[in-house]
Amino acid sequence: MRVSQLLNPTLREVPAEAEIISHQLMLRAGLIRKSAAGVYTYLPLGLRVLKKIEAIVRQEMDSKGGQEVLMPIMQPAELWQESGRWDVYGEEMFRLKDRHQREFCLGPTHEEIITDLIRGEIRSYKQLPILLYQIQNKYRDERRPRFGLMRGREFIMKDLYSFDRDEAGLDVSYQKMYDAYCRIFSRCGLAYRPVEADAGAIGGTGGTHEFMVLADSGENSVVYCPDCNYAANVEKAECRPQPVEAKAEKGERQLVHTPKVKTIDEASDFLKIPATSFIKSLLYQGDDKLFLVLVRGDREANEIKINNALGGFISLQLASPETVKKLLGCAPGSVGPVEVPPSLLVIADQEVSLMEYAVCGANKDDYHLVGINLKTELRIDQIHDLRTIVPGEACPNCRASLKEARGIEVGQVFKLGTKYSKALGATFLDENGVEKPCVMGCYGVGVSRTMASAIEQNYDESGIIWPIPIAPYHCILVPVSTKDTQVVEAAEKLYQELQSLGVEVILDDRDERAGVKFKDADLVGYPLRITIGSKTLANGQVELKERKGGDTRLVSLNDTAGQVK
Ligand code: ATP
Ligand code: MG
Ligand code: MG
Ligand code: MG
Repeated sequence: MRVSQLLNPTLREVPAEAEIISHQLMLRAGLIRKSAAGVYTYLPLGLRVLKKIEAIVRQEMDSKGGQEVLMPIMQPAELWQESGRWDVYGEEMFRLKDRHQREFCLGPTHEEIITDLIRGEIRSYKQLPILLYQIQNKYRDERRPRFGLMRGREFIMKDLYSFDRDEAGLDVSYQKMYDAYCRIFSRCGLAYRPVEADAGAIGGTGGTHEFMVLADSGENSVVYCPDCNYAANVEKAECRPQPVEAKAEKGERQLVHTPKVKTIDEASDFLKIPATSFIKSLLYQGDDKLFLVLVRGDREANEIKINNALGGFISLQLASPETVKKLLGCAPGSVGPVEVPPSLLVIADQEVSLMEYAVCGANKDDYHLVGINLKTELRIDQIHDLRTIVPGEACPNCRASLKEARGIEVGQVFKLGTKYSKALGATFLDENGVEKPCVMGCYGVGVSRTMASAIEQNYDESGIIWPIPIAPYHCILVPVSTKDTQVVEAAEKLYQELQSLGVEVILDDRDERAGVKFKDADLVGYPLRITIGSKTLANGQVELKERKGGDTRLVSLNDTAGQVK
């Protein structure tokens, strides 16, 4: 490739809309351009990086026996109604209708589609386990699309789904994916940590780990142990069973008597935060665990959000008491189960308008634990800031002092169990002819987010420093003059030579000053720059400069190709 022909519009200025470094550099280096909030076009160099990450992901999935498929982006509402998620997925789902008014969504994830496929095609235990994956666009109407590729509304994910005969099989599949994810992120040149995570709204029975890239711009807080491999998302850390009293002793936490609240105003009064927009968490104790309930009221948004520690984050758009009942499995004013054991005390007045629900948790009747060292007002996307485990506390494994870092979630592995296979009837006949539901797992890598994360960890004041395995090209050839025929000829010759050796090389043949070419090369972040100037060429030499570390050396023109390779 020749830079003169390449669509690579670099920018000198930092675009005002870009808050974090990867977003700034991707725009400045001409890798992406915005089409709408959270929706981007990948320009040629950006796409090359993306394809490299995809290739790494594909290799690692294939090596674990994954088979690639491609599922539809457009998904029929019926499947989501069968799984029960059509009504609960909330505003993050893009919904559309066809000309016959049939409802569809743009897939935010693919459990329904894949389970539907499996129920049609798998009959016998002999066909299991099976691991199917795809690399494809996902659509989520994020509340706050931002940070460029980090939180898009259209983004690229690799999602693999495993189907096993039993839990033991699932454990094997899970471990395979866990290992594959470690390899993927290492190969992409990332410093990451697998952390214990909460099961989240996706539901499911067992374990889940998030893969966190440590970077200051991360939206998650990770507490980790410097001495052993313990690490946890603070959401998870927060939920570790601990006696209420013990917690209450530390700091200003206390168990207080609270009146039952019926309206947002009452709740806001009790929580001592403004009624117009509030979010507050209450910790309460169930049979043997502590649960965190987030209460959020927002008159503008017409909704209350509830986060419970086991069930994860449930977004409710409360339309009526019936909706509350349907979603929480209990009527307003009564105590009832959410999907998982914790009971929620739902308090609402049948008369009040849809905004005026407050949902509170309590361990003892009429008691709530408040003041759990939380910020009193948070945006939904800052929920990760909540914490009860703080750096300096002892590691649960080895008692060393825990540290904290910001993390970007680049991947997650889940044990789903039989939630979807039971709901949709994806069953098989075992050795004894007994019909059983497949035991499932799902595993996602944010491919486009991984690209952004790689920049968050690899840059300097001049631009991106791509790790070699995902660099758009390995090396750039910069002839310092386009007037000097010897320089031009040497550059052309080397360019051909490197290409024939299979080196991914790009030639900056533009009629620009050397300084401009160097700046662009640094900004885009090619791992190696080969500069061909008349002075060094007179000695039969060219200059090799490594982007990372800046090591520079002169090598003989004849040896260059061999050295680069
Ligand atoms: P987050 O907590 O950041 O919202 P998630 O937990 O909702 O992410 P998953 O459903 O676990 O995401 O999806 C698997 C992976 O897809 C995530 O680990 C992340 O890397 C990526 N991903 C999720 N949402 C986005 C997004 N809006 N833009 C880019 N990548 C995303
Ligand atoms: Mg999300
Ligand atoms: Mg998450
Ligand atoms: Mg996740």
